[in-house]
Amino acid sequence: MNSRIADIQSRMIALQTQQAAKTAQAQPATAQPGAAGDDFAAKLQEAMSGTTGAAGRSYTLNSKGIPTELAAYGNGKIPANALEQVGNTRHKLWAPAAQDLNRMIADAKRDGVTIGITDSYRPYEEQVDLARRKGLYSQGGLAAKPGTSEHGWGMATDLDLDAKAQAWMRKNADRYGFVENVPREPWHWAYKPKTA
Ligand SMILES: [Zn+2]
Repeated sequence: MNSRIADIQSRMIALQTQQAAKTAQAQPATAQPGAAGDDFAAKLQEAMSGTTGAAGRSYTLNSKGIPTELAAYGNGKIPANALEQVGNTRHKLWAPAAQDLNRMIADAKRDGVTIGITDSYRPYEEQVDLARRKGLYSQGGLAAKPGTSEHGWGMATDLDLDAKAQAWMRKNADRYGFVENVPREPWHWAYKPKTA
């Protein structure tokens, strides 16, 4: 009996030691000067379940890569106040995409490269109109089936790029979460942030 208790005690001590080691390892990566417990918890939550945007906010994408905070609205049905303006333009995207696009445009400008925005969030009605005017991509056209466009989630932008800017984008855009993912549409850049 005594030996069983001793065994349990030694296992508990081993577990506590492991736990302490884990905590010690976790701290240097997450603790910051003046970081409070709440901050630590928020960062831990971020590291476990989400991705960090430009402003350090945490968010999650569902299994289809759609922001969970927007999924319930439906493609092309997102209210204006759930999206964020890109800089001082008339364009709106999902907030983390808007912030990263803004940052990318500013950095490109410092490299002497001009990135213009042609299109961004696209409401459902505009997707219908575009499909009518430009034809469905699946049939050789340039429009997604209405209700399926990445633009309908505020997760893609069409850019006005000259040759120099196109080259800059192909070299640098992935650092900002933007990928060229549609053959025949070198202007279309989808926001695919890396998950933690
Ligand atoms: Zn596009």
